[in-house]
Order: sequence, then C-alpha cells, then structure tokens
Amino acid sequence: MQTITILGATGSIGASTLDVVARHPDRFRVYALTAHSQVRKLAEQCLRFTPQVAVVGSAEAAKELESLLQQAGSRTEVLHGEQALCAVASARDCDTVMAAIVGAAGLAPSLAAARAGKRVLLANKEALVMSGQLFMDAVEQSGAILLPIDSEHNAIFQCLPHTYGRRPDGHGVSKILLTASGGPFRTRPLDTLASVTPEEAVAHPNWVMGRKISVDSATMMNKGLEVIEAHWLFGAPADRIEVVIHPQSVIHSMVSYDDGSVLAQLGNPDMRTPIAHALAFPERIESGVGPLDLARIGRLDFEAPDMARFPCLRLAYDALLAGGTAPAILNAANEIAVEAFLERRLAFHSIPAVIEGVLQKLPAPDVGSIDALLEQDRTARRVALSLIS
Ligand code: NAD
Ligand code: MG
Repeated sequence: MQTITILGATGSIGASTLDVVARHPDRFRVYALTAHSQVRKLAEQCLRFTPQVAVVGSAEAAKELESLLQQAGSRTEVLHGEQALCAVASARDCDTVMAAIVGAAGLAPSLAAARAGKRVLLANKEALVMSGQLFMDAVEQSGAILLPIDSEHNAIFQCLPHTYGRRPDGHGVSKILLTASGGPFRTRPLDTLASVTPEEAVAHPNWVMGRKISVDSATMMNKGLEVIEAHWLFGAPADRIEVVIHPQSVIHSMVSYDDGSVLAQLGNPDMRTPIAHALAFPERIESGVGPLDLARIGRLDFEAPDMARFPCLRLAYDALLAGGTAPAILNAANEIAVEAFLERRLAFHSIPAVIEGVLQKLPAPDVGSIDALLEQDRTARRVALSLIS
C-alpha cells in the first residue's frame, strides 16, 4: 500500500490523480490533501478519501474547512500555511508526493519532499525551472525517486533506456524531441494576437488544464519551461533538446538515438496516463483512459516551431543557455505577466516583452541557496510589476 500526499489536490492534476487513486483502493491510500482557497472542493475530497491531514492557504480557510468537516463527522486534521505544506510533503507516514501546486508557490513543499527522500511525482515544472541544480542535488543526496508527470517528460522517461542515469552520453541518445501542440494560436493571423482575450487563450484545442498553464501553452512559454525541465531531468544540454510542433497531441514526445532509431510514446491526451504510469512505476495499471484509435485519428502532422510567432520559446532557450538564475527570473516574470493578462491588465502579445525586459534589467548570477534564489524571484516579480504598470 502506497500512502500519498497530493499537493494541489483541487487543481486539474490533483483531480486527475484522485481519479486514478480511486480506481485502485487496494494500492493507494491518501495521507494528505492540500488546496489554496477552494475549501468546498477540498472538503468533498476529504470526505471521499479520508486523509489524515488537509492543508489550506490561510487561517480563515482552515476555519471554514474545519467546520465543514466537523459537520460531516470527519476526523481529518486541518492545518494551514507553507510550513504545513512542507510538513505533509515530508511526513514519515507518506511514501509518495504528487507535487501539483501551480507556480513558484510549489517550490518549498516540492523541495521538502525531495529532501525527505520521497517518491516525488513532479507536475510542478516551475519548481524545477527555478531551482534546477539545487533541486536535483536534493534528489541525489536524499535518494528520492523523481518521476515526471508532465506528459512530454513522462513520455521521454518511458522512451529512455532503463539504465539511463542523469546524462545522455553512453546511452546512444542523440536528441530529445519535445512535441508541442502549438496551442490555440498556431495559425491565427499574427496581427490579431494583440486582441487575444483570456477566454480565447485558456481554450486549449487538445488538453483541459489550469488557467496559468493554458496561457503558457498559448504563448508556448509552457514548451520553453519544458525545455528547461528536460534539461534538469535528463541532463541534456539545450542543443540536444528540440521542439517539434505536432498539432494532434497524440505523440507525447520522442527520443532519437545514434543508430537512427526514434522511440515515441503515444496515447490519448489525458493526464491520467502519465499520472497512472508514475503512481504504479515500474508496474502498469488501468488509468481510465481509453485505447488510442489510430484509424480514427488518421494522420499525425509535424512542423518546426515559428520563433517569431512564439518569442517566449526563444526567451526560455536563451535563459537556459545564460544559466545562473536566468530561468528563475524568466519564470517569475512570466507568472506576473500571465496573471496581469488574465486580469486584463496586460495585452497577450506584451507577455514576452515584459519577460524580456526583466531579463535584460537583472543580473542572473549562480546562487547557492534557496533563500538567495527566492530573493531573486521576489526582485524579478517587482521589476515585472513595475514594467506592467
Ligand atoms: P490548477 O490551477 O488547476 O491547480 C493548481 C493547484 O495548486 C490547486 O489545487 C490550487 O489550490 C493550488 N495552489 C495554487 N496556488 C497555490 C498557493 N499559492 N499555495 C498553495 N497551493 C496553491 O493547475 P494544474 O493545471 O493542475 O497545474 C498544476 C501544475 O502541474 C502546474 O505546475 C502545471 O504546469 C503542471 N502541469 C499541469 C498539466 C495539466 O494538464 N493540467 C500538465 C502538465 C503539467
Ligand atoms: Mg506538458
């Protein structure tokens, strides 16, 4: 029996994880569930999955959750705040942590799970983009098992040899081919991008996801963050990670080998597949995702990404090459710009301009501690806000 903490249980990944968990009561037991402010949804999840602990973002939210749970006779303990998130991510009673908080808010608890040597199922790509080397060092030192949930990285993980360590050399791996759908604006006339609304940007053609990652998919910053994520997870330099546009989202990514072989992982675009893969690894379990009907899909298309249409992708490659805290600055500026866009304070096509402005303004030295990293993150957010206003 695996006991699981789900960080970000009320989100899109959190709900898909609970869906898979519910299919296998003989394998998984929920230790803790966390949410920021969706108290009612978390209360329903607590009543169904009876975790030992539930964590929310504030004292007020905790009070509300406690009263909902008490009325229903639940014995789940309610805590709040970042320290509580870190505590449930590193608790002795839990083996596996699904890290599915969105954005930099997930860094501390994801890192706490890595430091505690847990089996870490990582959806929270922003945490790894920010802290790269520090995060991977924590995994190595504690002996944590890091399993990628992002569909592309989960696909790559499945296509790599079992003996693969942290470097592509010695395994005949020539390239990692990250597929990208191109999002909702792949073919939209360039001169209309200024008028894109939040509603249009979050309507992804193939995937149902949270709002932030949906906007990231529309700008292709999501793919940029994934290039950096792949760099850290698989030890591959930027020039060995190639992005390929594949509008159907059926191939989730590929690995190209020195002998000319290319291995791909295919499936319907449903996050329950990578989630079930990581939950059961190295075994395979049913996920609720139907079989792939290739005859119905008919064709698979590919094209090179258009860097003029998607400047965020170039900015991410540049940040990875620049190194130091450039990826953390990129991530912080992007979070602020996306939030401003969703609140209609920033035009869609100004998102890359804000990020580029912040990267140009700030030095990005290597930092040796999470505290120094978080200081950089705060500075980048301040500069981004000042550029937007
Ligand atoms: P979401 O917005 O649907 O859910 C986010 C979750 O994080 C919620 O449970 C929310 O309560 C919690 N949260 C938000 N702010 C918080 C804060 N300040 N403190 C604590 N908790 C907070 O997001 P999602 O789509 O489920 O994505 C979660 C993560 O997984 C992101 O990093 C995203 O990039 C990654 N991811 C998502 C998908 C997908 O299909 N949705 C695919 C790949 C990777
Ligand atoms: Mg992805």
